[in-house]
Amino acid sequence: MPNPEMSRRELLHAAGTAAVAATLPGVGRAHQDPPKPVGWAVLGLGGYAIRQIMPSFADAKLSKLVAVITGTPEKGVRAREQYGLKESSVYSYEQWDAIRSNPEIEVVYVISPPGTHREFTLEAIKAGKHVCCEKPMANTVAECDEMIAAAKRAKKLLQIGYRSHYQPHNLAAIEACRKSLGTLRSITSEHGFNMPAGTWRTQRKLSGGGALWDIGIYGVQAARYLAGAEPTEVMAMAHRLGQPRFDEVDDVTHMLLAFPGVVASVSTGYSWANANTYRVIGDRGQLYASPATSYQGHRLWINNREVAIEPNNHFAAQMDHLSEVIRNGGTLRTPGEMGRQDIRILEAAVTAARQRGPVRLEG
Ligand code: NDP
Repeated sequence: MPNPEMSRRELLHAAGTAAVAATLPGVGRAHQDPPKPVGWAVLGLGGYAIRQIMPSFADAKLSKLVAVITGTPEKGVRAREQYGLKESSVYSYEQWDAIRSNPEIEVVYVISPPGTHREFTLEAIKAGKHVCCEKPMANTVAECDEMIAAAKRAKKLLQIGYRSHYQPHNLAAIEACRKSLGTLRSITSEHGFNMPAGTWRTQRKLSGGGALWDIGIYGVQAARYLAGAEPTEVMAMAHRLGQPRFDEVDDVTHMLLAFPGVVASVSTGYSWANANTYRVIGDRGQLYASPATSYQGHRLWINNREVAIEPNNHFAAQMDHLSEVIRNGGTLRTPGEMGRQDIRILEAAVTAARQRGPVRLEG
């Protein structure tokens, strides 16, 4: 007797892996030589670069680590030894002329604090490179506009490091929202953790805006890709614990994002135990993900049954997507405009919290 749950699971599995496979190079190019890998330089050798991104080049099909750009020479030497990079492939933040002259570097991956993203992105584009820029794209919409305009002028690609768009559980959740949950009636998301004092993440100039810019952005992103639409209105309340670590930035923010036909409640905090979830309720079904957007261990339940999905290296899939578009053309899945829209929503949330009233997002 057929098992409807199993066939739905298999379907979702197939949907997830097929969507990821579509981001990988080589698909649909049987009988041709594989294209030359795209050379990437990683800028900013902090926690995310060292622990997640640089090791992921081993799983990339079309992206190759060829250089690092760092303000800490000893980290550069370590990276060079660990990844077998050429002697001349370690650059400082001042060596843009040398970076420009190295044709092996086609992409600069900016993985530094958000307050530096604008400057490093503009430098990389000026040096003739494509850019992948980590989230949040920048501190302000005005900075995002400059970055997008510079990339357009130079005819360079600008990708934002929104890795959930390349992760199969998130792709399966999107698929369910479009196909099986009916009309969406509610979206909720919580993203937060306990942030210690003394890092750039609690300094306004470098972080943009604390928990909201750093981790709340995952909930805003999720609300947008799950709804498959853009919010037209934002309401928000924000508060701080009254501790010195929150002198410059907000701790907890609760947002309501009004999408056509559905409201999303998105919350974030820097004084929380780990939270990394979203839930969607439609008029025909519902889903729950936790952890929803973490580095690994993603889990997804649709109508209270866990869906079996093969994990991928979504860091590598994200990089390979940009490399694929560089080599073969096509449309970027997570372009600068997507990053800008998130910053626009975050800025609206800050205004809404301050004025204690809704902010409309026109256009
Ligand atoms: P870290 O603090 O661990 O590292 C940041 C690195 O940036 C530093 O080690 C330094 O590298 C470089 N840097 C350049 N300019 C500055 C500056 N003015 N102050 C401090 N550091 C500077 O941060 P993360 O690696 O956690 O985060 C970096 C970026 O990646 C952020 O935008 C963050 O939001 C994003 N991120 C994204 C994640 C994702 O899942 N997509 C996960 C985690 C972070 P060096 O010593 O080489 O100069």
